[in-house]
Amino acid sequence: MRVTLYAGSAPGNSPVFAREAERFVRTLVQSGCDIVYGGGSTGLMGLLADTALANGGRVIGVMPRSLVDAEIAHTGLDELHVVPTMHERKNLMAEYGECFVALPGGLGTLEELFEVWAALILGHHAKPIALLNVEGYWDPLLAMVDRMTATAFLRPGEDFSLIPVTDAEAFLAALDTWAPPTPRWATDVRTHPTRKGLSS
Ligand code: AMP
Repeated sequence: MRVTLYAGSAPGNSPVFAREAERFVRTLVQSGCDIVYGGGSTGLMGLLADTALANGGRVIGVMPRSLVDAEIAHTGLDELHVVPTMHERKNLMAEYGECFVALPGGLGTLEELFEVWAALILGHHAKPIALLNVEGYWDPLLAMVDRMTATAFLRPGEDFSLIPVTDAEAFLAALDTWAPPTPRWATDVRTHPTRKGLSS
């Protein structure tokens, strides 16, 4: 299985981020997963690639030309795809991955996560998306999901569209039972009981 990982180009301010990222990626690779990520060599991004490679994993990086120097492209990857734009980077990373995990990260990580998440809700793909919730890093986002659900900006069923996990074992186990939310616009609301409350 190919797993696309989104992660900070910085390491964060606590060694726990690196330790948990390393543990997560090591278990993924030992379980036979290939890794797709943004191709950089810094921060948690670089660490996840180094960890996967050190454990015999196959790693595919995707980087826009403009960032190859700025973010210091990793030179030891099995494949490094240099693409013209950020947009193409995100598209390729989304296309290559059979599932997605956001590790702790900054604005770039959020941007990438939000794009695949919004596409899932719209039914443009049906690939699972998880959050590696190291030290509660993603708790504010999960609280926001609750708020969006409580205020009916997210629909029932969509509130579980992100899978919070604290280790790779839980992530891999969650994939076995995961089902995508019903696509928003592709279905007839009258035939879906979970939609009746919203459509009336
Ligand atoms: P950050 O989480 O901000 O450290 O960034 C993580 C990765 O996301 C870095 O490789 C950034 O270049 C990347 N990134 C930032 N903005 C975007 C964007 N609009 N599209 C794709 N990747 C981005």
